[in-house]
This record gives sequence, C-alpha cells and structure tokens, in this order.
Amino acid sequence: DATPPSHFLRQIVQADLDSGKHSNIVTRFPPEPNGYLHIGHAKSICLNFGLAREFGGVCHLRFDDTNPAKEEQEYIDAIKTDVEWLGFQWGGDVRYASDYFDQLHAWAIELIKAGKAYVCELTPEQAREYRGNLTEPGKNSPFRERSVEENLDQFQRMTAGEFADGAKVLRAKIDMAAPNMNLRDPILYRIRHAHHHQTGDKWCVYPSYDFTHGQSDAIEGITHSICTLEFEDHRPLYEWFLDNLPVPAHPRQYEFARLNLNYTVTSKRKLKQLVDEKHVDGWDDPRMSTLSAFRRRGYTPAAIREFCERIGVTRSDGVVDMGVLEFCIRDDLDANAPRAMCVLKPLKVTITNYPEGQTEELRLPRHPKQDIGERVLPFEREIYIDREDYMVDPPKGYKRLVPGGEVRLRGSYVIRADEAVTDADGNIVELLCTYDPDTLGKNPEGRKVKGVIHWVPASSSIECEVRLYDRLFNAANPDKGEEGTTFLDNINPDSLQVLTGCRAEPSLADATLDDRFQFEREGYFCVDSRDSRPDAMVFNRTVTLRDSWGG
Ligand code: ATP
Ligand code: MG
Ligand code: MG
Repeated sequence: DATPPSHFLRQIVQADLDSGKHSNIVTRFPPEPNGYLHIGHAKSICLNFGLAREFGGVCHLRFDDTNPAKEEQEYIDAIKTDVEWLGFQWGGDVRYASDYFDQLHAWAIELIKAGKAYVCELTPEQAREYRGNLTEPGKNSPFRERSVEENLDQFQRMTAGEFADGAKVLRAKIDMAAPNMNLRDPILYRIRHAHHHQTGDKWCVYPSYDFTHGQSDAIEGITHSICTLEFEDHRPLYEWFLDNLPVPAHPRQYEFARLNLNYTVTSKRKLKQLVDEKHVDGWDDPRMSTLSAFRRRGYTPAAIREFCERIGVTRSDGVVDMGVLEFCIRDDLDANAPRAMCVLKPLKVTITNYPEGQTEELRLPRHPKQDIGERVLPFEREIYIDREDYMVDPPKGYKRLVPGGEVRLRGSYVIRADEAVTDADGNIVELLCTYDPDTLGKNPEGRKVKGVIHWVPASSSIECEVRLYDRLFNAANPDKGEEGTTFLDNINPDSLQVLTGCRAEPSLADATLDDRFQFEREGYFCVDSRDSRPDAMVFNRTVTLRDSWGG
C-alpha cells in the first residue's frame, strides 16, 4: 500500500512524538448511544482509530452517555459491532462517561467550594434572556452570589432528589459578558429523574456534555481529543475546566470538518425519524446512511476505509459527492468479487437444435483476473435470458438479440433467434433459437457476432428475489428544499425496486452472508442478511456497474 497522504492531524501527532511531548498517543471515539452510527461517524472512527494504529498508540471507545432519556443498550451494541466491522479494536475495555460520574460530581463540589459554581433557579426562558446574545452581553443571574454553604446545600439536595426535573441547575461562574457564549456561566449539572442504562437509578442529576467531555479525556490520558468543527467554540470551556480542576492530565482538543455527503442525511435525529415514521424498514434498511445499512447493502469495510482516506481531513466544510463512495466500493468489488450470472427479468429460450435431456457442464472462471477457481454452468435446451436482451425494433447500436440475429451467450455458444412465441395479448413469452455447435470458445466461421449476453439454464437455476436500490432522496441537499418543506418531502418514492422471479445461476445456491458478487452486466450484489433464506434467496444490489447518476 502507498503511504497515505498526510493531513494536519497526522502532522500534529508526528510533531508531538518527535518533540517528546508525548511518547505514546491516546485518542478516543466518543459516540452518544442515541442511534446507529452513520457514514459521518466512519470518518471520525477511521481518523481516531487510524491515527492510533499508525503511530503505535491506542484509541478508546467511550460512550458519551450523559443523556439517559435518549440512550439505549441496543445502540451501544450496534455501535460496538460497527466499529469492529470497520476493522478497528479499542484499547482496553469499552468505557463510559458514566464511569466517571462519581469523580465529576466530586469535582463539581470542588468548584462550588472554590466559589466557581452556583445553583441557579432561573427558568429556562429567564436563563435564555439573561444569557444575552452575540451582540449583547448577558446579565448575572440573581442566584450568582449565593454563599458557598448555600450552594453546597442546594447541590446536595439536588443530588438527593428533592427537586423536580428542570427546577434548578448547577452552573459554572465564569463571565456573563464573555464574547464566547459558551463561557457565559455554562450548565454543569441538570436534574433528570431518569433511569440510566449503566448507572440505573443511582443518579437524578446528570453532568452536561461540556462538563463531562474534557475531564473524561483527562482521566483516560487522552493526548489528542479530536472532534468536529462545531466544537471549536467549546474549546475555551474545555480548557477552563482542565485549568480549574485537579485533573491528572491536560489533553488538547483539535477540530476537523465533519463529513457531509450529498443525497443523504447524516444526523442521528433525522435517521431515527426515518425509522420511527417507517419511511424505511429499520436502521439497517440498505438505503440508509448508517454503517449497518451499508453493511447489509454489501459495502466492504475496506471500501469505507478507503473512502475516508480519500476524502481527507481538513478544517473546511464541504459536501462530498456520493459518487466518491460508490467509486470506492466499485473499485474493491471489481477487483475482488467473483462473477456470476443472474437474469433479472427472465425470458425463456428454447434451443430447438439442442437435444432434449442433454446437459453439458461449462466451466467459467470465477474472476477474470484473480485466480480464484471456476464455476460450473450447465448448458441445456431450455435457458433464460433477460427480456431486455431481445428486441423486435431495436434502436441503432443495439448489439443484443433481434429477430434472425445472432448473439453469444456468455461463456457458451452463439445462438440465433428464429421465432418469438406470443400469448393471446401479443406478449412475447418464449424465444425459439438455434445454436451453432461450432462456436464454443471460438468465433463462428465467416461472420462476426458482436453481442454477448448473460443467461442461466432453465432447470437448475435458482429462483430468487433481487432488490435494486436508488438514492433515498431526490435532492442533493435533502434539507434545503422549497420554503416550508422538510427533508422528508425530498424522499425518492422510487428508491426501492423489488424484482421477484429472477433466476440465478446454480453456483449461487452456496452464497453466504459475507459473499459479494458481480452479476455480469447488472452490477454488484450480496445476499440480504435479514430476509434471504436458503430456499428463497434475496439479493441486494450494492452498486451499479457504472456511475449512472451523471455528473
Ligand atoms: P449526530 O449529529 O448524527 O447525532 P453527533 O456528533 O451528535 O452526530 P456523536 O455520537 O456525538 O454524534 O458522534 C461521535 C463522534 O463522531 C463525535 O466525535 C463526532 O464529532 C463524530 N461525528 C459525528 N458526525 C460526524 C460527521 N458527519 N463527520 C465526521 N465526524 C462525525
Ligand atoms: Mg455528540
Ligand atoms: Mg447529536
């Protein structure tokens, strides 16, 4: 493999190791378990785990679980599965911000004792008013000058469960006139009488994200705390906590631009809405932008890692074209996926000069370039070709089968269309053809046959279902529709096409969940992990053979 191109975070890590500032690097990936991971998270995973791997350090998996109301064990399990699937392993046990609730609570008390935190009873509306805005400084809360004793007593009673949700908060006493809004006496603790998936009913006060994140980094000895750009404004607060608490280490926060991908949404809230409102069939519906959806659709971890490497790491926001991701998976599958034939819209062909009952076992390479063996394809009197490969009035340049014309069956003989059999309504239901026995593995005498089409034997092919996916949204930016519309209004109603009665070549009977194939002339496909059964196989189209979306 070529050495990956450098980016500013690689350079920072390299410089910190060179200067001896750190002898080992420790990064972390800190998802909140309130949904499934999406392709945007893959960028953060590849970056954090990738840097640790490259520089011989470790990356922690830490659940940022300070908001029990929205979090669930199901999400924790799914996130672990996705990180491992992408090919990464966290250092040590899985960690939880909630592991540090005792320490964080003790530190909150230290801030109170130092006169740097107070219990505030402004209502949320009042608090907003007191906060000011970007052009106006805020005003001090009337509760700001409470004594240390009163604050300790109030916070103790908050913790003991004496007050209702939202009645009071603990705030840091920093500067209500700070130009950075995050420094205007931010909230440290909220009252929330909620059961927590890790700590049960132990707590009814929960620390804020800001009060949790940097201190968790410090406790774990994180050296480089990498997050997306929207946290740039939080960095002064991150520093303030580290400077004002007896933390065991002083990590540094760095920001990078989040991944935005067109024709999809990457926000757990919106993805959850798609699931909850049944616009899709679950978090792993193959049209979703979640990692579990890409997995079910047949994407490989290698393709997603390559994608994350290719898009790079910068500090400027942009939108990446879905075509880049598709390029990566096509490239991987072209190089590695075995070839097979599957007829999506079968049309029966009887080869009238081929003896009834005779079968001949043709052998085709499983891959044109890789030496991964052969597959057996029985040739017989009755076969299926695709309906679209026969036309009575073909457009110019049509190289497939036409009345009286010839075409080569992939890996097999040249056949000629002699007659089309129609039903009472004039629909073609069968073709009668003849084959040229002298064309197996060689060109016919005295004439050129340009077209090659795919086919399967009628008797031994497998009836299956094939699902073709298109973009889930019709708009490049689903969030920016006409006035008064939401991303839901941009859902593509034709994003899923289900084809039944398709016919797959016999070798596909052994396909298992991790197999991926190129169905010749149709695209790349995998076995659907949820709905496929050995006696009723279902294939998902991962991606088309070529970029069909246009520029
Ligand atoms: P969402 O808005 O989808 O809920 P989030 O940032 O709230 O995302 P977290 O679970 O907090 O989700 O994310 C874990 C990590 O993944 C964070 O460090 C976050 O910065 C990073 N991350 C989330 N979305 C993206 C993205 N689109 N591109 C790059 N990194 C991302
Ligand atoms: Mg978050
Ligand atoms: Mg979020």
